Amino acid sequence: MGKVIAIANQKGGVGKTTTAMNLAASLAVLEYKTLVIDADPQANTTSGLGQDPKEIETSIYECMVDGIDIHSIIMPTSTDYLDMVPSHIDLVGAEVEMINLENREEKMKEVIASIKNLYDFIIIDCSPSLGLITINALTAADSVIIPVQCEYFALEGLGKLLNTIKIIQTRLNPDLGIEGILLTMYDVRLRLSNQVVEEVRMHFKDMVFQTIIPRNVRLSESPSFGIPVVAFDAEGKGAIAYLNLASEIAEKNNVVKVNG
Ligand code: ADP
Ligand code: MG
Repeated sequence: MGKVIAIANQKGGVGKTTTAMNLAASLAVLEYKTLVIDADPQANTTSGLGQDPKEIETSIYECMVDGIDIHSIIMPTSTDYLDMVPSHIDLVGAEVEMINLENREEKMKEVIASIKNLYDFIIIDCSPSLGLITINALTAADSVIIPVQCEYFALEGLGKLLNTIKIIQTRLNPDLGIEGILLTMYDVRLRLSNQVVEEVRMHFKDMVFQTIIPRNVRLSESPSFGIPVVAFDAEGKGAIAYLNLASEIAEKNNVVKVNG
C-alpha cells in the first residue's frame, strides 16, 4: 500500500508546490513508484511537470464530485516512475458544489483508495487554504509535510494549521501523522535564515526534517521548463536537497517497493 503524503500550509509561497514536484520526482529517481496529485486550482504542479492546465479537462475534483474513475486521468511524466493527476483552473465552484455531498470530507480518500496499491508514494500538492479540498487531502493522507519558509513570520499561521490537523485527527482521520516540518528557501548568508532554523528546531524538535531546502535559483527556474529539478540540474544544490529529503522519508517509512 502506498503512503499518502499531503503537502500543506495555508500560507502561499512557502514552497508547497516546489516540494510536491521535486520530492515526488526524487522518490521516483530512487525508483519508488510515485504519483503526484495536483489538488490546487492554480495548477502549478501540472504546468511545472510539463502539462498545459488550459488543456486539462478532468482533475481529482471531477473524480470526487462526478464519480469519474481516477485511473482514466493518471498521466505519465517525463520522469520514469513518476505519474501525475493534473489540475485545471476551472474549479472556482468546486468547493461550493461539494457542500451538499454526503461525507464531503472523505471524497478524496474514497477516490485514492482504488489506486493506493499501485504506488509506493502518493504526494498531494494542496492549495494555500484550509478549505474543503485541503480538508479532503488531509483526510485522505497518512501524513502531512508542512513547508516553512526561512523568512520573517515563518511561524505565522502554523498554530492554526496544527490546530486544523488536530481537529482532523479527532473527527476524520485518527491515523494522520506529521511526516515533518520542512524548512525551505534557506539562505546560509542570512542571519535571519539561521535564526528561523534555530527557532523552529527549538519549538518543534524531532518534528523538523534534518534536510533543509536551500534557496536555489534552479528550483525556481525548473517549472518554466516543465521538468523537475532532479532531471534538469541533477548535481545542483536544490536537486541534492530534495534527493536527501526523499531518502530521509524513504528510510523513516521503510517502504517495500511495489515493483521490488
Ligand atoms: P507554494 O506552493 O507554497 O505557494 P511555491 O513552491 O510555488 O510555493 O514557491 C513560491 C515561489 O518560490 C515560486 O516562485 C518558487 O519557484 C519559489 N521557490 C520555492 N522554493 C524555492 C527555493 N528553495 N529556492 C528558490 N526559489 C524557490
Ligand atoms: Mg503551490
